[in-house]
Amino acid sequence: MEIFHISAECYPMAKVGGLADVVGALPKYQQNAGHEVRVVVPSYDTKFKNENDFVCVHWGTVELGSFQFPYSVLKERTDKLGYELYLIEIKELFDRPNIYGYDDDIERFLSFQIAVLDWIKARNTVPDVINCHDHHTGLIPFMLQFSYKYEVLSEVRTVITIHNGLYQGWFGFDKMHYIPEFDLKHAGFLEWNNSLNSLAVAVKCAHAVTTVSPSYLDEINVSANGLESLFNSVRSKSKGILNGIDIEVWNPLKDKMLEEHFSIDDFETGKQKNKEKLCERFDLDASKPLFSFIGRLFDEKGGDLLPLASALALSENFKDINLLILGSGNPDIEAQLLQLSNDYKGNYNVFIGYNEELAHLIYAGSDFILMPSRVEPCGLNQMYALRYGTIPIVRRTGGLRDTVIDFGDDGNGICHDQASVGDVCYSINRAVNLYNDKTRFNKIIIKGMSTDHSWERVCQEYIETYNQIIQKHES
Ligand code: ADP
Repeated sequence: MEIFHISAECYPMAKVGGLADVVGALPKYQQNAGHEVRVVVPSYDTKFKNENDFVCVHWGTVELGSFQFPYSVLKERTDKLGYELYLIEIKELFDRPNIYGYDDDIERFLSFQIAVLDWIKARNTVPDVINCHDHHTGLIPFMLQFSYKYEVLSEVRTVITIHNGLYQGWFGFDKMHYIPEFDLKHAGFLEWNNSLNSLAVAVKCAHAVTTVSPSYLDEINVSANGLESLFNSVRSKSKGILNGIDIEVWNPLKDKMLEEHFSIDDFETGKQKNKEKLCERFDLDASKPLFSFIGRLFDEKGGDLLPLASALALSENFKDINLLILGSGNPDIEAQLLQLSNDYKGNYNVFIGYNEELAHLIYAGSDFILMPSRVEPCGLNQMYALRYGTIPIVRRTGGLRDTVIDFGDDGNGICHDQASVGDVCYSINRAVNLYNDKTRFNKIIIKGMSTDHSWERVCQEYIETYNQIIQKHES
């Protein structure tokens, strides 16, 4: 089967969060399973783009209303990622360092989607499935079905995978003319709550909807930033498929970003060496348990709980624990977290920014990883942590509920129900007690490290979904 994945992110070309990790890994496993898989992302000005070799396979002009943008399709020459990676180069719109956050994001991602379809049409072969990811690619299922110029592609089956339903890509109907011409009787597919909502369009028009965990699918039927009734209405074509992790990239035995490699057989010494490296770098005490947080510092992730929870945990347990935070986001949260480094020197530190290498070292060298998320469609941090022998402390929500079970219930982590400072501190206290019971602590680590979260198994669920929509169409 020929499968296209269209996305705003793909590791290692461009990463902000979990979307990149999934789009960077799932296609590799699908390709290994015998399919022809191609991934298409915009050509941003990133390190990967600048350090790798690309060949131009197509070029043309995107028409966006009265604007015209020349574009090229660049293919990564070696296929070293395990699938064909294509970049859509639209210099005027994407030759910038950041992936999101520009005033013209609507124009950027609409041009990207139009260029992708123009190119696929020009290839003269019709793919079996186009798997769109999140709202940045949400208009593709609509355009394929209704824009006159893509009529030859109207048989292509489409899937929208929802990695985060909070962000929906709204825009006004004043920009509707950007979409290649279609019969206006279909304009209703574009509308949700008086605006044009890219994610809602995809949910209505795609042949299948997948979310990145089963529990998240249940949750968005109840609360989805205004789309819950829509999700209810498409339940029969929806499926929650728990993300996997790329066990080649995330392998504590081979990870080049670690100070010391380790496996389930020697994790105690291996983890301690990584911890010592981290503690030396961040002026922490390697003889004490190390709690870490990695992620976007927003309320969605429980980032707003961190300053007070850290201050309380450190004052209660001061000199008993270390806390290390890696992330960026809300400037108020960042400022509060930075302020704490003056108050708890030697036991607390924070790195504001994005740092892939440091993230790997933190997964390897920490004892516990904090994830007090309000919303977590799947969450990858807990799966990386488990693989690196670090015990996750999570709020039971979305994919965290599906992957972490409290050690009191013979599980692999520590769970709490509320996204509250009290619950986080209570869990930290339980963790300190657990840390002091080395036999039990190590047993839980081993349980976590033995869990199989690889894509091999999961990728088959995507293929089954594709087959179902293809067979339904043929019958
Ligand atoms: P998100 O909602 O951000 O996509 P996920 O848990 O699905 O959350 O994925 C987060 C991914 O981004 C993980 O690979 C995590 O290690 C990485 N990450 C998040 N913030 C940072 C950061 N500041 N530096 C390095 N990696 C980060």
